[in-house]
Amino acid sequence: MKEKGINSEATKRINRLLVLRLLCTSPGLSRTELTRQTGLAKMTVTNIIADLMVHRMVRETKPVEKGKTGAGRKQMALRLSEEAPCVAGVWLSRDGCEGMVVTPELEELAHGAFRFHAEETADSILEKLTELCGTLIKKSGRRVAAIGISAIGPLNIPARIILNPPNFFGIRNFAVGERLSHRLALPVVLQNDMNAAALAEKYYGLGRDIRNFAYVGITNGIGAGVVLDDRLFEGTRGVAGELGHVIIDSHGILCHCGNRGCLETFVSVPRIMERFSQQFGRTFSGLEEICRFSEVDETGHSLMNRICGEFATGLVSFCNLFDPQMVLIGHEGASLGDDQLHFIESEVNRRILGSAMGKISLIRSSFGWKAPIYGAAVTALKTIFDGDLLYDEMFSE
Ligand SMILES: [Zn+2]
Repeated sequence: MKEKGINSEATKRINRLLVLRLLCTSPGLSRTELTRQTGLAKMTVTNIIADLMVHRMVRETKPVEKGKTGAGRKQMALRLSEEAPCVAGVWLSRDGCEGMVVTPELEELAHGAFRFHAEETADSILEKLTELCGTLIKKSGRRVAAIGISAIGPLNIPARIILNPPNFFGIRNFAVGERLSHRLALPVVLQNDMNAAALAEKYYGLGRDIRNFAYVGITNGIGAGVVLDDRLFEGTRGVAGELGHVIIDSHGILCHCGNRGCLETFVSVPRIMERFSQQFGRTFSGLEEICRFSEVDETGHSLMNRICGEFATGLVSFCNLFDPQMVLIGHEGASLGDDQLHFIESEVNRRILGSAMGKISLIRSSFGWKAPIYGAAVTALKTIFDGDLLYDEMFSE
């Protein structure tokens, strides 16, 4: 353990960033409510807000509704100003790229996407990515302070490099962060798409009041972003949460990771589509269509139940290891119906250890299939919340 003390400058910084983060993630709070939520002295909060107002980051909007503030002076609701810098978030998936510019309150200002062609290279992707970001920033009409990219892995996150994803045009060591940053003259941060989605849930979604939870995305594979004690758990090599490679049948089919019977050889979107095509002798457009079909077709329903049961088997091992309070299902998995989610939830709770001490809730992600795009944006916003970006500009001595 290497613990260090905190001096008063560091404390000041932590307090300022805490207030700023709450202003972004809970729009419309009053000074009184900020004081209550942060536990800081009223004067401290007032001074921090004054600092932010001088820099035109925050504005007062309308009086907070009566009854919420009690007696005394009228309290004004605080919002980020229209001059506050925004961020862009882009999601690089296996099929294409989708991006948004959002305000620090996570309101969408511009949205755009492109699909990959049969033959792409790192250079051609960079070219399109630069154009997409440039167009979105222009369309938003706002100052953009940073770009967050969420991408399929494996990644070298600190170096902002996409290493060597399977089935991704043979691209190796693509320094996307550095190159895009150079092209657009903006800071760029990279995060794995599952971790990014978990961050969106932590700061703006269903995870904000939950200390331990996991975001699980079902897509070409299965991955998870794990939040433990309110922090993203990234592991040592950045491969924590690889739920898709939990082995559920050691004699099963060969996975691209070299093992047999990994969860994603049963339950990834391509595998589910293959299994439904084999069963019904027809093709399906995607998981959405399969989920709706399974709700009305009896044979489809029982195949889907089998698949949900296999998914639960992987989740049971995962939950026994991390003991989350909640599991959020996203990416294409967001198209699972309520009954399908309930079935998985009850299977998991029936089979995990410690179920007498409390249930694990299994819920659709707050951001649905868009979770990785919002996640990319929140990855960029986190650099502001952590004080790595804009801090000196916002708080003068
Ligand atoms: Zn595997």
